[in-house]
Amino acid sequence: MSDINYSFFGAVERSFDRAAKFTSWDPGILEQIKQCNSVYRMHFPVKIGDKVEVIKAYRVQHSHHKTPCKGGIRFATSVNLDEVMALAALMTYKCAIVNVPFGGAKGGITIDPKKYSAYDLEKITRRYTSELIKKNFIGPGTDVPAPDYGTGEREMAWILDTYLSMRPGEVDALACVTGKPVTQGGVRGRREATGLGVFYGLREVCDMPDVMKRIGLETGVLGKKIIVQGLGNVGYHSAKFFQQGGAKIIALAEYEGAIFNNRGLDVEAVFQHRKKTGSILNFPGAKNFEKSSDALEAECDILIPAALENVINSENAGRVKARIIGEAANGPLTPEADEIFIKKGILVVPDMYLNAGGVTVSYFEWLKNLSHVRYGRMEKRFTENLNSNILGQMEFLTGKKVGHNAREKIMHGPEEADLVFSGLEETMIVATREIMEMWHNNPTIPDMRTAAYVVAINKVGTAYAELGIFP
Ligand code: GLU
Repeated sequence: MSDINYSFFGAVERSFDRAAKFTSWDPGILEQIKQCNSVYRMHFPVKIGDKVEVIKAYRVQHSHHKTPCKGGIRFATSVNLDEVMALAALMTYKCAIVNVPFGGAKGGITIDPKKYSAYDLEKITRRYTSELIKKNFIGPGTDVPAPDYGTGEREMAWILDTYLSMRPGEVDALACVTGKPVTQGGVRGRREATGLGVFYGLREVCDMPDVMKRIGLETGVLGKKIIVQGLGNVGYHSAKFFQQGGAKIIALAEYEGAIFNNRGLDVEAVFQHRKKTGSILNFPGAKNFEKSSDALEAECDILIPAALENVINSENAGRVKARIIGEAANGPLTPEADEIFIKKGILVVPDMYLNAGGVTVSYFEWLKNLSHVRYGRMEKRFTENLNSNILGQMEFLTGKKVGHNAREKIMHGPEEADLVFSGLEETMIVATREIMEMWHNNPTIPDMRTAAYVVAINKVGTAYAELGIFP
């Protein structure tokens, strides 16, 4: 079967069906899990300059087995119903895998954000939000949006402000959206969360000797050759954390082209170069690839597609030389590409678990907003005083002094970012082990994606089984 007439939701359904065979749920329950529960497609007018533009937008709630629903909002010309449905479904499975108690959702506006001024984007975002409010498609307990491709903290602040003005006095209103600026109720660490989650997840896989042996790689992240496609928020942070972890970023790709240096690229320097020159190309010491997609086919240990869906398909999958593909984007591989990689013994670490760092930290932000207090505020000083007393007693009893650096480390009481990052690290490690265990215990499961789906389906299925079906 060709993947020319590609349906993203169809691809998610195919992955689901393949995994469903390894579960024992009633076919009706499986069908219910798979479908999108509520689909809201809207058109609204916005005055841009002296013209009225009709904007097309969506919000899809894939599952209500847990509420609120959760998922980002995407601004791109490629946004369509099929895509938003697929992304909403992935959110359900993603949340289930990392034990974030939300149903999946996704939103999108079919626009090219680069073509609008900040003022016009604000009008569009606010109008979209008020449409969601009117239909009860947003709220701390119903549906909580977040950033996605083409949106960020700025848009989330506009969403929050629109919500606040239409729901005055609602005490938990800050929790109606996540990914906000820290000064508007956001949480420290949310910006780097998805990239850091990608790193934690892949590091855990790389630390599994049996898995690495099977694909012919040394254990550990150190010295691994990495290619990252996409230097947006997710790609940039993934690359940065890999570099910090001792890996070599040998190629970086963006839509204008790609650059390659076998000795490793400095991610921050490349980022600054692109900001200054407007292009990733001509970075000092690196070789240019005029065709960005060529970078996907270069020799490396780990390939990280971190941009959009459907970039590796039946056409180019055969030429990919990586041993591991870490799906930082949502849906970068088509099912046809998956088949090719299974045959070639390439390990695909799937999107709906690997990029779950974003929604995990969104969950922490939501909890922070509901508790109305910053993480660490209550315990930081207490912990530091306690540690100081323990240290003092130790020194008194032993007659020896602890060195300056060790003292700083032991004394340190947790800041918000420390707690968020350790919560994220734990989440990603537990999820990786759970999926690998499912795969290990069921050797007929063909790949890690299917194992991840089985884990997700079992968790959502359990919710239906225990809660029952409302008559
Ligand atoms: N848009 C991100 C994703 O696809 C984050 C969603 C969220 O934080 O709710 O996972």
